[in-house]
Amino acid sequence: LKNLGDLPVLPLPESFALTAAYNEDSFPNKVNLGQGVYRDNNCQPWVLPSVRKAEETLHNQQVNHEYLPIAGDSKFLTKARDLLFSPEIGSSENITSLQTIAGTGANHLAAIFCARNLHPKNVFISDPTWDNHHLIWEVAAPNVTRKLYPYYEPSTRGLNFEGMLAELENSAEENDVVILHACAHNPTGIDPTKEQWKKIAEVVGRKKLFVVFDCAYQGFASGDTDADAWAIRYFYSTLFAESSSLTPAGMFVCQSLSKNFGLYGERIGALHLVTPSSNSPEGAKAHLVQFVRAEISCPSLFGARIVQTVLDDAELRSKWQEDVRIMALRIKGVRTLLKLELEKLGTPGDWSHIEQQIGMFSFTGLSSAQVQELKEKHHIYMLSNGRMSLSGLNESNVAYVAQAIRDVL
Ligand code: PMP
Repeated sequence: LKNLGDLPVLPLPESFALTAAYNEDSFPNKVNLGQGVYRDNNCQPWVLPSVRKAEETLHNQQVNHEYLPIAGDSKFLTKARDLLFSPEIGSSENITSLQTIAGTGANHLAAIFCARNLHPKNVFISDPTWDNHHLIWEVAAPNVTRKLYPYYEPSTRGLNFEGMLAELENSAEENDVVILHACAHNPTGIDPTKEQWKKIAEVVGRKKLFVVFDCAYQGFASGDTDADAWAIRYFYSTLFAESSSLTPAGMFVCQSLSKNFGLYGERIGALHLVTPSSNSPEGAKAHLVQFVRAEISCPSLFGARIVQTVLDDAELRSKWQEDVRIMALRIKGVRTLLKLELEKLGTPGDWSHIEQQIGMFSFTGLSSAQVQELKEKHHIYMLSNGRMSLSGLNESNVAYVAQAIRDVL
């Protein structure tokens, strides 16, 4: 490169570009169904009451602003780990945890570690997926080939489970990485059933793949954080038991606390590494610590303090669980509202998938041309792949959105 000016201009990631365009739009009835953030019934940001309470507690404690250890706050990490793996896991010596810059930082750290220490040939990514999976692996692990495994089947608007399993069975080699969404798959809103998870676990264990669970929506699938951790707990307890003959090369869980605590901008998350019982985790931990030191030196305080304060206090914790339920149920509620409105208008097609899909999103089946028209004609913003972030809907705008969808079909 001779001149900095020769660098091509790259487009902004779509969800951020949509939010910027939405903010500039002066149309009074505009609707933002783009970015994956929770909104209350008035389509406003919601600070969880349990989080507000923790903020007050911290304020009264007159906390200081010292550096954290490189791996993060150990009390926070124990709470975050138990939230995923359950408090009953005991000493769990084969789990190593580090605090990260939200779920994105956890994914990034996992990718760097895999690329530099594990040297997989391929990383298998669901088709489709959260777009940042591709960018993260492209930037952090350029020598690892990105391969797509079938996930969404347009004809059934469901999971292409046979295709997914066949791709892992036939194309993945020992040590290859497979990224799995722990629950509330982004963007499709479709998760494997428990029986399907068991079959996936069997394949990744038998083929000695390296599992990367991305867990960004714990609580949003069912409203219950324990139920939503089922797949992670199943993989952990069966594949990594000492008696298991099907142990994968290892397992990362990338934990985002952005959505289930409403702490989006505070950038709080964790990365948990599960090592096979025959392997010491010490070397892996030292390498992860070194990457963190090089990138951020040590993680940030505020989000960790909030999460730790909420989870450490029985009363606050149950208040938080109720807050999570409120978010999940509101989104479930607008799914039904939208489906009913579409049916009321006699909109062509079957809209039951909107109600059946789970989590924050609906993969509507709208084409990118239809999405474009929704934006230009009706000031409704959503991703061009047809993903709708449902929390932008409420009782006041759902009829408008349904009418607009009817119009563009
Ligand atoms: N993974 C998935 C699948 C996501 O959808 C997101 C957020 N959109 C993340 C990870 C990361 O979220 P954050 O960095 O905000 O915690």
